[in-house]
Amino acid sequence: MSDLEQISLELEARGYRVTPSRRAVIAAILARKNHFAADELAKRCRGAGRATVFRTIRLLNDLGVVCRVLMDDGSPRYLVSRSGHHHHLVCTECGTVQDLDQCAVSGALREIADASGYEIEGHWLELYGRCAACRAKAAVSA
Ligand SMILES: [Zn+2]
Ligand SMILES: [Zn+2]
Ligand SMILES: [Zn+2]
Repeated sequence: MSDLEQISLELEARGYRVTPSRRAVIAAILARKNHFAADELAKRCRGAGRATVFRTIRLLNDLGVVCRVLMDDGSPRYLVSRSGHHHHLVCTECGTVQDLDQCAVSGALREIADASGYEIEGHWLELYGRCAACRAKAAVSA
């Protein structure tokens, strides 16, 4: 089964109709290699209007199909999600976004919950820095 079919089935299973324009948005998302801005996708996606593109991205984000990543300047980008709780490593030089499988802060969250009496329901964490490729490039030119 293609990713497009899989996502379509997932939407239908949750009671959403997969209209041709929604399908076009999903296909456009799957064609992207790395992250994208909603605006940029709207320009490339011929099968759907701008509002539909934005709404579909939001829906897919709510369903966990697409991740929202905040770049270091605060602007949101989207990329196809991998399943399960994870975080992102964002390179501030080349803009590459990499998934980080493990949750780096689960221990700290338990301590915060204990100390504050909160039942913590969620958190958001992006890690910014320079990726291995950018660091290697910098070392060569130095
Ligand atoms: Zn992700
Ligand atoms: Zn980089
Ligand atoms: Zn986490």
